[in-house]
Amino acid sequence: MADVHDKKTRSYNMSQIKGMDTRPEMIVRKFLHAHGFRYSLHSKKLPGKPDIVLSKYKTIIDVRGCFWHLHKRCKFGDQVSTPSEKITSRRESAVERDRIKVAKWKEKGWNVIVIWAECELEPRKKYSEGREVNLNGLLKNLKNLKNDNPGK
Ligand SMILES: [Zn+2]
Repeated sequence: MADVHDKKTRSYNMSQIKGMDTRPEMIVRKFLHAHGFRYSLHSKKLPGKPDIVLSKYKTIIDVRGCFWHLHKRCKFGDQVSTPSEKITSRRESAVERDRIKVAKWKEKGWNVIVIWAECELEPRKKYSEGREVNLNGLLKNLKNLKNDNPGK
């Protein structure tokens, strides 16, 4: 059993590193889909190939892993230190890339919603109250955006 868990953990970590189709992203996608939202994924038309693009809402949803993207004041993010210089510099460059991406998106008139994968979605839990609260907050956010842009 222990080995199975290790394997699972390892593949979870690998998917985090690759940054594509991660479980946190799937949680958000499934939620949006269930609420009738249509989106495109990893759109190559936009800089940095954003995770989830809701064109109708002119909104980009950026799902970030707390550890690699150094979520501030987060127990999964900047509160986790590592002695590895390689990992540290990798985390720092991810933050820099995020900053540049968000600036480019905003410059092009996109709304940007950042979702922090570990603390906001608790992807390892089957059921998480925090996740429900955060996803419903996202829903509210999107509905407000639509009301702000009549005719779009
Ligand atoms: Zn976090």
